[in-house]
Amino acid sequence: MQHHETTPLVAVHRGSGAWLFDHDGHQYMDAISSWWVNLFGHANPRINDALKQQLDTLEHAMLAGFTHEPVVRLSEQLAAMTDHALGHCFYASDGASAVEIALKMSFHSWRNHGLTQKQAFVYLKGGYHGETVGALGVTDVPIFRDAYAPLLRSAHCVRSPDARMAEPGESADQVALQAIEELRQLLMARSHLISAVIIEPLVQCAGGMAMHSPLYVREVRQLCNDFQVHLIADEIAVGCGRTGEFFACQQAGIWPDFLCLSKGISGGYLPLSLVMTRDDIYQSFYSDKLSRGFLHSHSYTGNPLACTAALATLAIFEEDDVIVQNKQRAAQLTQALSSFKQHDKVRHFRQQGMIWAFDAHIEDPELAASFSRRFFASALKHELLLRPIGQTVYLMPPYVLTEADSQWLAQRLATVFEEVTSP
Ligand SMILES: *Cc1c(COP(=O)(O)O)cnc(C)c1O
Repeated sequence: MQHHETTPLVAVHRGSGAWLFDHDGHQYMDAISSWWVNLFGHANPRINDALKQQLDTLEHAMLAGFTHEPVVRLSEQLAAMTDHALGHCFYASDGASAVEIALKMSFHSWRNHGLTQKQAFVYLKGGYHGETVGALGVTDVPIFRDAYAPLLRSAHCVRSPDARMAEPGESADQVALQAIEELRQLLMARSHLISAVIIEPLVQCAGGMAMHSPLYVREVRQLCNDFQVHLIADEIAVGCGRTGEFFACQQAGIWPDFLCLSKGISGGYLPLSLVMTRDDIYQSFYSDKLSRGFLHSHSYTGNPLACTAALATLAIFEEDDVIVQNKQRAAQLTQALSSFKQHDKVRHFRQQGMIWAFDAHIEDPELAASFSRRFFASALKHELLLRPIGQTVYLMPPYVLTEADSQWLAQRLATVFEEVTSP
């Protein structure tokens, strides 16, 4: 809060497309999709219309003993998008809760099979899975974790496949295989005590947009099969088209045992999260004994308005052939950003689907420490909403940018970067 003495809060009044407008008449391009949730622009007419209709039909009803059309349609559509490999959905409202659900369901499913010793989880260095006490226990981002460390249940943290760790001449695949080797050693020693491995497939976002080879995801899948451990794919940030396919796991050609979605699934409109899982895991809970059933009671589970926003979002993917259109959109922005690749103050320029990132190289430790705040303030002056993670600058724009928007964004980014790195 004290930082806001120097960078006052921006009071947002309204949004339209990629733009946010404040009460003082300024506008900002939302180049990070308001923390990665907004896929098709603010105040999207198609999502608005769907919500207006649903509002006059059913705002909410409990999902215990009842069901309703939006939640059924959404579950069926999502299941079909995985070719029914993940044919069951469990709903909550925020991403961290989806992670809690996946962790609990994994543990409880093994328990129902009599494997009560499988109680531990494995997560990656730099991984982020939310900030409730359970999710924070499998999160490795010190600023979020350190203060609460005494509250957290211990879990195994293994090497990240972050491609930036490549030695000169080494490929991203080689880095991935080294990380796999460490995981294999752990599973060889302890898999009888391990319930699940949780990963963010392809891009570890909150940890600093660390990207890795899809080979890693394939190899983790194989290890989990070999050692009888569940794989949880946290696609809360990387799902919904962000990496270039609807699900990031599709790029590796695998399905996990649990797949978590949130953020973009409602188009950035309403809190909604869900965990998708396989039929055999569903079956492991199917019993008339309540103690074998999966319990995670949540008042707003399957909220019809949030599900309607999600259905309208999926309809746009289909109607506008978004996955295909985004390939062109991504190529345009990558082209517009080409000067950053060779910039002497830029390290590790990288891109995956609709995510771009690079690390600013700043020698002065004080300037480096204040980089993110100075960057945010300078970006606002130039009509951009951008919030670097430490010294990592990234773009995660909504899927609505035109070629002219991309040019404009790249030019403004260059201006801001010069201002902040040559003060
Ligand atoms: C944002 C995020 C979460 C947490 O979602 P919330 O809705 O903020 O609780 C979990 N995992 C990943 C990968 C995320 O990016």
